[in-house]
Amino acid sequence: MPSWPLKNKQKEIPTNNHPGSFWEDRGDRHHCGIDLYSDVESDVFAIEPGIVIETGLMTSPEWIHYWNHTYFVIIKNDHGNYWKYGELKEIYVKSGENISEGQKIGKVGLVLDSEKINETSPAYIQKLKGKNPSMLHLELYSYEPISRHEKYLGGNWFSDEMPDQLLDPTEKLASI
Ligand SMILES: [Zn+2]
Repeated sequence: MPSWPLKNKQKEIPTNNHPGSFWEDRGDRHHCGIDLYSDVESDVFAIEPGIVIETGLMTSPEWIHYWNHTYFVIIKNDHGNYWKYGELKEIYVKSGENISEGQKIGKVGLVLDSEKINETSPAYIQKLKGKNPSMLHLELYSYEPISRHEKYLGGNWFSDEMPDQLLDPTEKLASI
């Protein structure tokens, strides 16, 4: 049985194009995952057992000036799909490491540096200025999870055509 990735936090899954929902239309981009809002530094736990296949930088101020550094972990779970846990402040696991369900893998981070958001920032980002939303950003893939791609940046996809391997995690999360 999969387990919920954030302890001490009620299940709240954004749907229907609400902020943080899967494939949310953000104007020039679509959201590749689901955002589970939680306090900065909340512990993040593996939903399913598996093996870490990749870790890396998810956002960086060197790419977008109003971003902080956050990290991602991709775990190939024993049932074949891949979870990508993103927007983490810290990660506690390494590539090649076997992961048990419920294992602590990282901490929730904060992507946006509000002070650096200005009138040149995308409209949906400007609306978030001063709100400092922090979250676990979760993506689900059937094969070849995406970490770097010319159409992908910071958990968003810059095209209306969804990548084949990207799955909607809503039902899976709701069933936990
Ligand atoms: Zn997100």
